[in-house]
Amino acid sequence: MTKEAVPAAKLRVAAVTPFTTIDFPGKLSAVVFVQGCPWRCPYCHNPWMQPREFAPDLEHGSWQGVEHLLKRRKGLLDGVVFSGGEPTIDPALPAAVERVRELGYLAALHTGGAYPAHFAEVAGRLSWVGLDVKASPDLPDAFDRAAGRTGACAKFLETYRTLREAGIEYECRTTVHPTLHDEAGLMRLADWLEAEGVEHFALQIYRAPKGLLLSKLLARVDADYPGDAVLERFRQAVPHFTLRRES
Ligand code: SF4
Repeated sequence: MTKEAVPAAKLRVAAVTPFTTIDFPGKLSAVVFVQGCPWRCPYCHNPWMQPREFAPDLEHGSWQGVEHLLKRRKGLLDGVVFSGGEPTIDPALPAAVERVRELGYLAALHTGGAYPAHFAEVAGRLSWVGLDVKASPDLPDAFDRAAGRTGACAKFLETYRTLREAGIEYECRTTVHPTLHDEAGLMRLADWLEAEGVEHFALQIYRAPKGLLLSKLLARVDADYPGDAVLERFRQAVPHFTLRRES
């Protein structure tokens, strides 16, 4: 029996950024944030997007609103980035990706790789992927600790293999905090990136969001974290290294 497709209209749109130049390299894009994530990274900046259900007291978007935006912005935007939360959690994602392409836009995805089978359903239709690497996949316990869920590393690796086989352009990115990522662990991450031949990598230094009460990582990150030797190692390991200070 074939699985019935879930229509794009069912996509749980938490929020929309109508215009950005930074979320899809080289493209002007809109970002659609999908509600729900199975992981519990202690540094999550969007914990209100973790439950699959919308919070009754918070506003959210709709697929109808996304289509309206895309029809109005025709010629002004190149693409749509599905982000989250974890967009591959949503069974309507394949139809939403298809619809975006029908409307003449490129489709991109931000994912941590939590649902490899769902990722495989959309991979062939994506033009670019931003892939979160929670810690070195050679240190699965540290990876799972950073994701807040046992088994996260195994899911990530399955998604990563599919991504590589599909030949999609991608960037790996890791958000780091000293309580989750010591310097030895970061060196192991650099080793993994180099061994895999990853070309684009961004190291994102955790910064506490405003309204810190939501954050479980109360410790401030020192300005000298991570040290120069670690940064130098990343520069050697990947051809295109970016250092981002999150805010
Ligand atoms: S994967 Fe992303 S959305 Fe999910 S808990 Fe981690 S940081 Fe938050």
